[in-house]
Amino acid sequence: MSKAILYDATVCIGCKMCEQACAEHNQLPYDEATAAEQKQSEHKYTVVLTKGDKFMRRLCMNCLDPTCASVCPVGAFKKTAAGPVIYDEDRCMGCRYCMVACPFGVPKYEWGKLLPRVKKCTMCADRVQAGLQTACAEICPTGATKFGERDDLIAEAQQRLRDNPGKYVNRVYGLNDAGGTSVLLLSSVPFGEFGYNTPQYPLPMLTYQMLSRIPDFVPLGGILLGGIWWITHRREEVAAAEAREKESAGSRRGGTR
Ligand code: SF4
Ligand code: SF4
Ligand code: SF4
Repeated sequence: MSKAILYDATVCIGCKMCEQACAEHNQLPYDEATAAEQKQSEHKYTVVLTKGDKFMRRLCMNCLDPTCASVCPVGAFKKTAAGPVIYDEDRCMGCRYCMVACPFGVPKYEWGKLLPRVKKCTMCADRVQAGLQTACAEICPTGATKFGERDDLIAEAQQRLRDNPGKYVNRVYGLNDAGGTSVLLLSSVPFGEFGYNTPQYPLPMLTYQMLSRIPDFVPLGGILLGGIWWITHRREEVAAAEAREKESAGSRRGGTR
């Protein structure tokens, strides 16, 4: 059994407590300016989008068959049996294929950092492993964000659709979208209005089909050379930045003597 999140936009009041709890859990700053930002970023892993009196959360969907993991040449992304899609920054070589491949535009890059990493919601993997619910589900005052077993949440979402004909778009988003996801959505407005437009099959399959139409040496050679270029280039960038930092630290020490 794997865990999941069910977000029911019809119960959401737009309080953004989920955003704040996410920031706290991930030790990210959160203030009024951050709350006003209407997009995911390297310092904001989840956002409550607002259109009039309608709300919709965006966060990593923690896909069942994640494209980010399928394209990563060094296996930095991994789908866990418990549900979360986790990221190992020690493996990451900074190629950013995951950012291009994700159908939900989720992974973000720390462009301004000396040692940039990819940042995204990992479904509170540490909390889930400890038997806790995600921080966003725990804080939600209305139950709009709920945590539980994926099968149970699907059954509950389908029951809500049956019990409330006309209230919802008749669909549990994430049941099959992008091959199925560990974040499930219910809404009274079409999901496309909030940018949810993925096909209903696993996208790694699409990547595979595209690659299979091209002679092997083109993509494989390109990926290999691209990867080597990125590793080399990144190491050079890091070494140069470290040298600059040492130099400015040295001159600061010299100045205080
Ligand atoms: S905490 Fe719950 S009610 Fe508040 S914005 Fe997030 S999902 Fe909506
Ligand atoms: S939403 Fe994107 S980043 Fe998240 S698991 Fe799916 S493919 Fe990976
Ligand atoms: S599951 Fe955790 S990391 Fe993901 S949005 Fe919720 S609080 Fe943030």
